[in-house]
Amino acid sequence: MTAAQDTATLIDHVHHLECLVCGSRYAPDEIDYLCPDHGDDGILDVVYDYELIASRLSPSSLAHDRDHSMWRYRPLLPVGSQVPLPPLRVGWTPLYDARRLAAELGLQRLWVKDEGVQPTGSLKDRASAMAVVKAQERGAQVVATASTGNAAAALAGVAASVGQPTVILVPATAPEAKVAQLLAYGATVLLVEGSYGDAFSLSMRAADRFGWYVRNTGVNPYMSEGKKTTAYEIAEQLGWQAPDVVTVGVGDGCIIGGLHKGFRDLHALGWIDRIPRLVGVQAAGSDYLAQAWEGDEDIVSKPAINAATVADSISAGLPADRIKALRAVTDTGGAYVRVTDEQILAAVPVLARGCGVFAEPAAAAAYAGLSRAIEQGVVGADETTVVLATGTGLKDVPSAMRAIGDADIRALHVVPDLDALAEALDEPPSTERQ
Ligand SMILES: *Cc1c(COP(=O)(O)O)cnc(C)c1O
Ligand SMILES: [Zn+2]
Repeated sequence: MTAAQDTATLIDHVHHLECLVCGSRYAPDEIDYLCPDHGDDGILDVVYDYELIASRLSPSSLAHDRDHSMWRYRPLLPVGSQVPLPPLRVGWTPLYDARRLAAELGLQRLWVKDEGVQPTGSLKDRASAMAVVKAQERGAQVVATASTGNAAAALAGVAASVGQPTVILVPATAPEAKVAQLLAYGATVLLVEGSYGDAFSLSMRAADRFGWYVRNTGVNPYMSEGKKTTAYEIAEQLGWQAPDVVTVGVGDGCIIGGLHKGFRDLHALGWIDRIPRLVGVQAAGSDYLAQAWEGDEDIVSKPAINAATVADSISAGLPADRIKALRAVTDTGGAYVRVTDEQILAAVPVLARGCGVFAEPAAAAAYAGLSRAIEQGVVGADETTVVLATGTGLKDVPSAMRAIGDADIRALHVVPDLDALAEALDEPPSTERQ
């Protein structure tokens, strides 16, 4: 028995992996990624032994736990008890009581969970931390992913904290600033002359040839297991009281699927008495899941759409985790709503001014979507709602500049003179502009 197998056998609280398409069951050490019978669609769900978990973890044991990271929920996660955890502090992000925004929207209670404070600036750190732990559990030499955005940055950052080599495949057209962040973290970056789809399939073939561990969203069943810790934190931060509604921007669907999984875990354990309605917010230009939900379409056979939106982190023509993403909404009685790029950009300064959380467009979309959901009668005034702000605005400063320009928010010009300054301050800033 190798050291890796030895550790894997300690994951006794994972009952099996189950294919979301055909229901086939696999032992966790039998299969790493997809159900072999359905190509990229055979996404697996991790099924737990809740009785065993309940004997190891409880709300009161958590109350005394000083580990303020996602790993405080380790007995609920698919990792062995012996594997070393990465030192970067991922998780336990703040949940802010956003009273002024609540008043603006006519809601009694609104909370904003700020994932922008994660080490690499987005919620993706939760999944990447999980990927690094799983890779080390398997003794993998390299962790690989195909991504241009936050997932790649998160993998490169968490891997750097443990000295784990990474290979990241991005389309050659990827923004230089994002590539620079990956290179700074020490990732080996391959600029693929082709589309994102080309980079993705090349990453899968290369991983197969070279024995790399793959972090790709959807393909790797453990990514939504990392992201589900967001739901645990929301429930714990609200005193084990589930909110009525959570809104979140949706691209590949891994986050909303993870939220659903997290709340289902807590409900199965009896720690919360109901599962919140999940409202997935999509950009009007990238609305695959909104279409599928409205039209009751078959999510496995529905073909890709063309996706284009300013909120690049939720741009997905064929959402990789679409099965979990659709179930998250249908099973909870939630909804998919669409927001335009203008509404998304407008939400950036509204959220920043209203509660101090500066969000990238995909994150601000969750707030824009809440406004839509209220207008459409999907969310009621007396419901406790959580907006999941998935990533920091510093990730995409050009969009923030566009947003404040669109909103006509401007700086004041003054000559270096106190009277001139007083005069400038007296004038309403939005009407005076030179
Ligand atoms: C990835 C991401 C999303 C969407 O998550 P999916 O799992 O792709 O639906 C939303 N916001 C930010 C900031 C992201 O990085
Ligand atoms: Zn299957």
